[in-house]
Amino acid sequence: MERKISVTGTKQKLYDNLKKSPEAKTGDSVKSTNIIPVHLIRQWCYCPRVVYYMELNYISINQPSWVQQGEDFHEKERLLWKRRNLSRFNLDDGKVYQNLFLKSEKLSFHGIVDMAIESSDAVYAVEFKLSNKIAKRKDWLQLTAYAMLLEEKFSKTSPFGFLTGKGQHVLHKIKIDKQKRQEVLRIVNAIKSMLEKGIKPDSSATAVQCCICEYINFCNDRM
Ligand code: SF4
Repeated sequence: MERKISVTGTKQKLYDNLKKSPEAKTGDSVKSTNIIPVHLIRQWCYCPRVVYYMELNYISINQPSWVQQGEDFHEKERLLWKRRNLSRFNLDDGKVYQNLFLKSEKLSFHGIVDMAIESSDAVYAVEFKLSNKIAKRKDWLQLTAYAMLLEEKFSKTSPFGFLTGKGQHVLHKIKIDKQKRQEVLRIVNAIKSMLEKGIKPDSSATAVQCCICEYINFCNDRM
């Protein structure tokens, strides 16, 4: 059975609402070291020092052009999914949420998943990716983190999630297994520990990664 999608808000609106919320006023929000944003998991996978610069040094950098391209792509995908059905995911039916804010005290992280599909017995995270080369560790760990948040919010299992790329036929089905869950929790603990101690972490970034990193000017040992 094909089903049309209902849309529930945008990421920007949700972030705006978050800023106005009582928990934001008490500091238990985006900048808390107790509950960290999911996107830091991606950054940590690239290089732990990026998280250090972003969260503890508040170094502002010029956004590279691909960041704006990514935001435009997300908005385009969001609008396209208003019209698409779930057959692409091989799912018969399900309620669809877009830009859903999720937060867990127990897991110690929060984030806004691009899309979530709730079926009668399961819930699935969907992330829109600009690149078609998306089966990377940082992508599936981010997806796993959202799946874990969804499981808690909906009290349903999340056996797998989806990474979609450019074009109708780019779809990666990612199994949300025990190993990925443990890896997410390990990284979250490592980030929290680094934020609490405030010590610049070592980096295993390659020369190629450093060359295209926006923080290269702050890493004297990498120049
Ligand atoms: S320049 Fe290299 S070591 Fe420094 S933050 Fe960037 S990726 Fe990490």
